[in-house]
Amino acid sequence: MKPAPLAACLLPLGVVLQGSAAVALPKEPDLHQPAGTSCPKALATRVLESTRLVQARPEPGAPGYTDRLATTPLGWPRLQVWCVSIEPALPATTSGPAAGDAVQQRWQLAVISALQSWKALVPLALVADPEAAQVRIWRRLPPLAQDGTGRPRASHGRALLRLVAVERQTGQWRLEPAVEVLIGPGQRAEALQATALHELGHAFGIWGHSDAPGDAMATSPGPVPVLVPSERDRSTLRWLYAQPTAFGGPVVPPQASPKPADP
Ligand SMILES: [Zn+2]
Repeated sequence: MKPAPLAACLLPLGVVLQGSAAVALPKEPDLHQPAGTSCPKALATRVLESTRLVQARPEPGAPGYTDRLATTPLGWPRLQVWCVSIEPALPATTSGPAAGDAVQQRWQLAVISALQSWKALVPLALVADPEAAQVRIWRRLPPLAQDGTGRPRASHGRALLRLVAVERQTGQWRLEPAVEVLIGPGQRAEALQATALHELGHAFGIWGHSDAPGDAMATSPGPVPVLVPSERDRSTLRWLYAQPTAFGGPVVPPQASPKPADP
């Protein structure tokens, strides 16, 4: 049985993000690959059994909300360069704009805006093929999850982490975080962008929540949508990326699970 991915986060559906300013969304995303970046397609992927998060123990005085983060037994789940795919919009209909076109466009622009905010802090490259990406963003509402008391709880977004060994060049296996980011399309632009920013913060390694509502990674959204990482988000991320990790390095892949026998 495959290990279940770890999930964050559970912002409740009923939360309405307040805010009046219209969001200026870029028409032409600048998410070209940084020079020297390559995002080869995965030839094979094996999910590691050891996917679990453990409480980090940063040194006293570490910045931001680093004391609230989780890490993995293999080190911080982050890479020097991330390859990111976004679920494409469905092709427009020939009979004119479909009702869903505006929703899809709003979703795409919100996701790209959030990616641009993180790109200033985390090198990333946009790729068309999900097989070439470590972070895959999907336009869909996360399934119901359970809260701490076992009650079903809905959310607009969720990030799911698996730790994987990936063969990206023949015979060469690499340890990578693999993150599926689910973002439902049913919010207005500002709330969508805030949700995307938050979930992508998890994807890029911040597996924990801030206790301050002005941070992108706040446990509960405050009255104003957070559309760019705060100084605390930035210092937390800078600290995290300065820590040692095995991710991005070579790994001995686990044995492939045997194929079930034909009945
Ligand atoms: Zn979260």
